[in-house]
Amino acid sequence: VWQTPNKPIVLFIEGDGIGPEITRAAMSVIDKAVERAYKSSRQIKWMEAIVGEKAEKMAGNRFPQESVDLIQRYRVVLKGPLETPVGGGFRSLNVTIRLILDAYANIRPVKYMKGLESPLRNPEKVDLIIVRENTDDLYRGIEWRWDSPEAVKLRDFLRRELKVEIEDDAGIGVKPISKYKTQRVARMAIRYALQNGRRSVTIMHKGNIMKYTEGAFREWAYEVAVKEFRDKVVTEEEVSKGASQAGRLLINDRIADNMFQQIITRTESYDVILAPNLDGDYISDAAGALIGNIGVLGGANVGDTGGMFEAVHGTAPKYAGKNVANPTGIIRGGELMLRFMGWTEAANLIDKAINEAVNQRKVTQDLARFMNVQALGTKEFAQALTQI
Ligand code: ATP
Ligand code: MG
Repeated sequence: VWQTPNKPIVLFIEGDGIGPEITRAAMSVIDKAVERAYKSSRQIKWMEAIVGEKAEKMAGNRFPQESVDLIQRYRVVLKGPLETPVGGGFRSLNVTIRLILDAYANIRPVKYMKGLESPLRNPEKVDLIIVRENTDDLYRGIEWRWDSPEAVKLRDFLRRELKVEIEDDAGIGVKPISKYKTQRVARMAIRYALQNGRRSVTIMHKGNIMKYTEGAFREWAYEVAVKEFRDKVVTEEEVSKGASQAGRLLINDRIADNMFQQIITRTESYDVILAPNLDGDYISDAAGALIGNIGVLGGANVGDTGGMFEAVHGTAPKYAGKNVANPTGIIRGGELMLRFMGWTEAANLIDKAINEAVNQRKVTQDLARFMNVQALGTKEFAQALTQI
């Protein structure tokens, strides 16, 4: 949660495909919620950063320096989906933005709403927030092909110096998990949980097998919890020994494979899930699948001084310009943005409005089909949200 002035400049990137429509819709919903919650004492000053196809057309460059500078300076971005051109050998725009912001945590709330086609029998209780470490682990890309000179050297070193047995045809990857990176993301997850009145933070890991990477992740995360938040948290172990949980954030941990079972069979027992990069990637998608529709998921990449908030889905080009796309994903992204700004009341209004709209069967075509009701357009849906 950042220090935020009352009238902050927030950037928006329209994005490609359905991006412009859903982004504008989200901005109108966010503005209305802020106005309702704070009258005129707080207000977002939107400023556009031009990136993607629009930038290509206007400036001949998908990511003009001007936009890089804006992001560097203002650091909070609501972003429509950007197309990643295939091939090319350049970094995706999303990764570039993430690096500018040093956004080390990926956050994905997964909350069920009535009317979604969930594969669960009782999906009403799905209300999870996955916090995934974004900069460490196997995704650093430190790996070598089995027949590369590096792999030959490494195997040699492992055998000779470390007495490790390894096959001659093994490719080798490195899994760095550092204390610093683990603790900054743990701190963020716990702070976020406390600020937003969540019940628990579960550390996901495979520490029984990977002791010094995922096991260390578990230990370092617990350390942050009990050293830095002592009077606000209680661990499951302490509760089992009789400590009271009242008014405190519960901290526990689960082995990764078990975590997958648990979110399906005992969803209601989980709330915030903190995971290393690889586990977090898998569990984010699995959790998303629990609610049955990617059009309604929002997410963020966040660091200590800023973040990028977005929908989880892509550009859906076949719906572009038709006023039919569901803007709920990026609106959820905006809700998350408000939570990081500490504007919790406005965020809660948005959450309420979305649930209420779906209850009243006011939905866009992707959901209307299943609910057997007339669909609202993107704009009309956004308008309905502001009128609830
Ligand atoms: P990209 O190449 O950018 O990923 P995509 O078409 O694959 O674009 P996805 O987000 O991966 O986009 O979505 C796959 C499909 O899900 C879309 O083609 C569309 O049918 C549906 N979809 C995704 N987001 C939405 C939305 N916001 N509203 C309605 N339908 C959506
Ligand atoms: Mg896609």
